[in-house]
Amino acid sequence: MADLALAPCGSYQEREVEQALRTAVEAADAMDFVVPGMRIAIKANLVAAMKPESAGTVHPSVVRAVVKLLRERGASVVIGDSPGGVYTAGRLHSVYQACGMEAAVEEGAQLNEDFSVEEVEYPGAVQAKRFPCTAYLLKADAVIDLCKLKTHGMMGMTCAVKNFFGAIPGTIKPEFHYKYPNADDFADVLVDLYEFAAPRLCVCDAVIGMEGNGPTQGTPREIGCLLVSKNGHLLDLACAGLIGLSAGDVPTLRAAVRRGLVGQDLSGYRVFGNPADFAVPDFRTVPAQSTVHFRLAGGMLGKIMDKAASRILTPFPKLVPEECVGCGKCAGICPAKAIVMKNKRPRIDRGKCIHCFCCQEFCPKGALKVGRLWILRLLGKSGPSPR
Ligand code: SF4
Ligand code: SF4
Repeated sequence: MADLALAPCGSYQEREVEQALRTAVEAADAMDFVVPGMRIAIKANLVAAMKPESAGTVHPSVVRAVVKLLRERGASVVIGDSPGGVYTAGRLHSVYQACGMEAAVEEGAQLNEDFSVEEVEYPGAVQAKRFPCTAYLLKADAVIDLCKLKTHGMMGMTCAVKNFFGAIPGTIKPEFHYKYPNADDFADVLVDLYEFAAPRLCVCDAVIGMEGNGPTQGTPREIGCLLVSKNGHLLDLACAGLIGLSAGDVPTLRAAVRRGLVGQDLSGYRVFGNPADFAVPDFRTVPAQSTVHFRLAGGMLGKIMDKAASRILTPFPKLVPEECVGCGKCAGICPAKAIVMKNKRPRIDRGKCIHCFCCQEFCPKGALKVGRLWILRLLGKSGPSPR
């Protein structure tokens, strides 16, 4: 039985997706926990009201196939997410509709209509020991993580673990960014959320991923496989490898390795399918925020040098003025209040910016990119520049 399974899937044609999923699930014996009558909540990546062809959300054909296999085993299924913004019926209905979730309903699933939130405690957490959680996940007998492989401005990559930031109601998310501005601390929060939710199965839609200005305004890129594992950290490790990243490049993977939840690489794991067959070496990644500690000098001087180095090396949001329509959404969502609108253009105060990239994620025109200093691009320090 495999710890991780990759199955080739060259299109979103329903029959092909279903066959690929069956192959991967069988190889990993991944649905052995499902019993008749079980209530399963699928936490799908439905980050925004985006059409499936944009590759920003899990494709409906993949959602449909997962539901079909669960229904065959006698489970009832509810599908949900809490994207940025208000967590209300009106907002989620428009997300479900845009993302094509009626396909899951046709297969017998329900779309989550319970928008209540419960305060939960997680004493085992490194950072998030207490947080508000979307209640539908708490009411299920088992949770399934249905994620999408994409680039991400702050975390470098979003996949199985990052998907659980959607357990936090949308309006509360900026508070987390503000409380945990450091990427490694925020990564520990994400690992805490994932570990708390304890999904029994993770399925990744890497048929067509998103490269460049992800997670919402990047470019669809064919990868050609579905991945299945009961260990989301392992699934993330494999996905990072497909797009040319290592565990050290992705803050959530660094945290998982540090916490002993996954190894540095795939050696020692039983893998069905050959990851090298699906690798995309020229996948356009974005550099994750990194913590810089030069310690070139002690005391106050060392701190000043650390701060200056961090400022130089940390990616920042960069406006492409000709793509901006002056809507002001970036200023509205910025948790650090680092953006003011002047002459219908955002001005970013880099001294206040906490590098969360919420502005880049929620700009409807993709006018904000992940920027780096030209000298770092020249040195190739942090992966290719997003276009
Ligand atoms: S959200 Fe995007 S389009 Fe709107 S003002 Fe900000 S940068 Fe411009
Ligand atoms: S300017 Fe953008 S990246 Fe900086 S804190 Fe505001 S939303 Fe986050």
